[in-house]
Amino acid sequence: MNLRLAHPQPADTNSSAHQAEALVLSCMDFRLIGAVADYMDTRGLAGRYDHIILAGGAMGVMAKDHPDWDRTFWQHLSLARKLHGIKRLILIDHRDCGACKMFVGPDCADDPDGELVTHMRVMEALADDVRTREPGLEVELILMDLDGTVTSLS
Ligand SMILES: [Zn+2]
Repeated sequence: MNLRLAHPQPADTNSSAHQAEALVLSCMDFRLIGAVADYMDTRGLAGRYDHIILAGGAMGVMAKDHPDWDRTFWQHLSLARKLHGIKRLILIDHRDCGACKMFVGPDCADDPDGELVTHMRVMEALADDVRTREPGLEVELILMDLDGTVTSLS
């Protein structure tokens, strides 16, 4: 069966232009899948980024009881550089994250300021690891509200 994709494709898909601008890491939460795509669209990056999704986003990579998620993230980051020459990693964690509550506890959600600090601490730790293991890659830290509003923590 021959299927046609409904989503728009990058204008130039030949192999010489097989490059992406960024890799996005975000949470699997269904409430924000569309908001993340919309956000990337507003930045002019639609069709120009790779995307890896793990519960909790950066929180999921750094969760010590899920070492496979950590390994999976690093493998995908390395592959995105090799295959698509990505220049930046965009970490998009979000508020009211169930995975965050599971990994960190109520500190992650009871107090908005504490929630922000918790995400910032975890994303900064991951960004430091990325700068060490994948030098030359820019890293952006973003916390998204459930309505799609973003706060840059970079
Ligand atoms: Zn989440």
